[in-house]
Amino acid sequence: MRSIESWGRYPQATPARVTHLVDRDAPLPDSDLPMLVFGNGRSYGDVCLNDGGHVLLGQGLDHLITFDPGTGILCAEAGVLLAEILEVVIPQGWFLPVTPGTGHVTLGGAVANDVHGKNHHRAGTFGCHVLRLGLMRSDREPLVCSPLENPEMFQATIGGLGLTGLIHWVEIQLAPIHASDIETTTQRFRNLDEFFEVSAALDTRHEFSVSWIDCLARGESAGRGVFMAGNFATSGSLNDRSRSPSLHVPFIPPISLANTLTIRVWNEIYWRRHPTSLAHSTQGYRSFFYPLDAISNWNRIYGRRGFQQYQCVIPEESAGAGLAALLQTVADHGRGSFLAVLKRFGHQASPGLLSFPMPGVTLALDFPQSTDVEQALFPELDAIVQDAGGRLYPAKDAHMAGRFFRRSYPAWERLEALRDPAFCSSFWKRVLP
Ligand SMILES: Cc1cc2nc3c(=O)[nH]c(=O)nc-3n(C[C@H](O)[C@H](O)[C@H](O)COP(=O)(O)OP(=O)(O)OC[C@H]3O[C@@H](n4cnc5c(N)ncnc54)[C@H](O)[C@@H]3O)c2cc1C
Repeated sequence: MRSIESWGRYPQATPARVTHLVDRDAPLPDSDLPMLVFGNGRSYGDVCLNDGGHVLLGQGLDHLITFDPGTGILCAEAGVLLAEILEVVIPQGWFLPVTPGTGHVTLGGAVANDVHGKNHHRAGTFGCHVLRLGLMRSDREPLVCSPLENPEMFQATIGGLGLTGLIHWVEIQLAPIHASDIETTTQRFRNLDEFFEVSAALDTRHEFSVSWIDCLARGESAGRGVFMAGNFATSGSLNDRSRSPSLHVPFIPPISLANTLTIRVWNEIYWRRHPTSLAHSTQGYRSFFYPLDAISNWNRIYGRRGFQQYQCVIPEESAGAGLAALLQTVADHGRGSFLAVLKRFGHQASPGLLSFPMPGVTLALDFPQSTDVEQALFPELDAIVQDAGGRLYPAKDAHMAGRFFRRSYPAWERLEALRDPAFCSSFWKRVLP
């Protein structure tokens, strides 16, 4: 047995039996306990946990199988990290079609949560670029799944929260690039109305966009933030100039270093650091896509109790009012967040049954774990999201009530019908009736 924890370090580490997967051709272990694959544990809550069950550690499946630099089609075992793929493909003029905010995610994890990135408004989710995948289940022979082969299982596996079996390998279509640097445009916005204006103007001209928002600001400054947009440079080097991770949080402090005071000071500095008018610069892809990867173990700053990320999406028609209500509620509770991210999702449909994005705006906030956050703040935020017709992201979740999940993901019953009977997760046990 071994204690397994997710990125939020909440729920507390859960003991599970573990098996290291190393051989792509080996059958699934014969287990009397429910199984679940653990990618690299970059999910924040319990979607990658299997309390008291059997965890299959997927990172040993780490071989690139094929890569055609002519077409940009890559096939790799599911334990390969996105950062490892980039090391190989960037020099050949290719990039991931979609990447989340960290490169320390496995291919299998990217598929199972159907992750999104800064280009969702252009490219949709990761699953939109998966051509085929290999699936191993306890109840049938290994399957190849694609939009044409076993399409129902393909749809269920993308965003399927690891419940349809072991994803063995994944074939994806990469995106061509001419250089690895990003030309960025930065623009401050003074409130939410301005965010929507800036987003409408810059999203159309940029492949990537994301905003930081000051969730402690009140009164006239409520909803202020910084909009960051970017495109790959059209010429230049395919050698990354940005530096490798250099900082490290060496130990877990007894209490969280993120509190209202430190966050207020940080927010003010961050706001002032950005110029009032449109600013342009060029930066390496790592610092643009993966700023947090420069500090290893940054999740430790939240202390022994860990933290929870609250990530919701509010549909387009109710986004303005819904976001204003969420930010007001967070400010009323005196709860800030170092990381406060706002991003407009586009209209491209996700292929997964349970994919999170919908046309609208997503907000992500980190909170040190406390009873007050879980029992007072989150229920209020959940009520706002539900009333606005939105939903929470299972990859980040450790608190959502089962009824809320089932109402906002009505396809859950189809996934349950296609779940591998030998697989389950702490998340699934929590949200199912
Ligand atoms: C700093 C940071 C930034 C992030 N930014 C974003 C973002 O911008 N957008 C976004 O969408 N997400 C984001 N995330 C979340 C992260 O991308 C997802 O949680 C991702 O799924 C984690 O992948 P993982 O390999 O660590 O998998 P894990 O977290 O270990 O597992 C995730 C799920 O995948 C399943 N799984 C993993 N491997 C396999 C396999 N081989 N077969 C079957 N199932 C498998 C697990 O069972 C589990 O259900 C971020 C996370 C961090 C820490």
